[in-house]
Amino acid sequence: MTVTTRIFNFAPGPAVLPVSVLEEAQRDLLALPGVGMSVLEISHRSKTFEAIIQECEANVRKLAGIPQDYHVLFLPGGATLQFSMAPMNLLGPGQTADYVITGSWSKKAIKEAKKVGAVNVAATIEAENFTRVPRQDELKLTPGAAYVHISTNETIHGVEFHKLPDLGAAPVVADTSSHMFSRPIDVAKYGLIYAGAQKNMGPAGVTLVIIRDDLVKKAASLPGYEKLPVMLQYGTHVTDKSLYNTPPVFAVYIMNLVMRWLINLGGLEAMEKINIRKADKVYQAIDASGGYYRGHAAKDSRSRMNVTLRMPNEELEAKFVKEATAAGLNGLKGHRSVGGLRASIYNAFPEEGIDALVQFMKEFQRKNG
Ligand code: PMP
Repeated sequence: MTVTTRIFNFAPGPAVLPVSVLEEAQRDLLALPGVGMSVLEISHRSKTFEAIIQECEANVRKLAGIPQDYHVLFLPGGATLQFSMAPMNLLGPGQTADYVITGSWSKKAIKEAKKVGAVNVAATIEAENFTRVPRQDELKLTPGAAYVHISTNETIHGVEFHKLPDLGAAPVVADTSSHMFSRPIDVAKYGLIYAGAQKNMGPAGVTLVIIRDDLVKKAASLPGYEKLPVMLQYGTHVTDKSLYNTPPVFAVYIMNLVMRWLINLGGLEAMEKINIRKADKVYQAIDASGGYYRGHAAKDSRSRMNVTLRMPNEELEAKFVKEATAAGLNGLKGHRSVGGLRASIYNAFPEEGIDALVQFMKEFQRKNG
């Protein structure tokens, strides 16, 4: 049987995209209007693609109100490459970088940084199985650190910073992959922001990097910078405006359509309101279940994008996932390292899907509780 209707896709990424974006891409796939070729077939040095990447940058800047002294880059290699590029460019000999460890992704980030230089764990919530973000008084920051790294939304554990803690004087380097543009972001508080596109911004293949100019210059002055592969130097991509080599053209094209969609929706404030409403519905269903569903994250650290929860036992969890999938609610199995269930409800996830999930949760408890 060919499935032609869309199911509700709770996948953590690549994830659901706005239907209108997919429709536009589908309509224009064979020939971009006025160009007569597919976006997949044109040169990345063509006027057409230049206009696309420039518009994408302009839209990103507009959405987040990015100050002029920041560069906006579209890079390959995923957020994972940024785990390495950030320390390679910003962590010099004799310096220390602080890392705030709130889940699997920040652990991966520090692992790569350790290969480059000295790191300090500013805080870790591992002993509590990454159920919350650290309190301000738990942060042990290094005076004069090269930077402080933070993962602002932990996709696997479902833990989100709702307010950036005071991280001192060092530049803040943030992995915002799984909640980028789900709410307003005050870019001026950061030195470097990076986010893979495949959750909230587009398809896999492009990573949005926002870096303050002084850090690009500082990187270039670090001993050993010249020896870094050219693709791993931020300066390369700043100088060549993300066109040093062939960029992921299709991913940038779709990302631009998603940025337009966000702007038309009313921007990040409007998006945040919708996301709060959607997440609240799921968490309320959890809290109203009398302990049948248990949220993994502490209330003040609950992610609006990745809702992680447990049920009374693993058999019930497996049954829930199986029956939900059959009912058109797809991708609800939690990550193997946490278990349980995870509902990833990114920007483009439709509110009808939230209502369907809440209804399904109630029904399932009634039948199996
Ligand atoms: N950081 C976070 C918070 C993520 O969720 C992910 C991907 N799930 C990554 C980093 C790694 O991203 P990529 O696969 O694009 O390298």
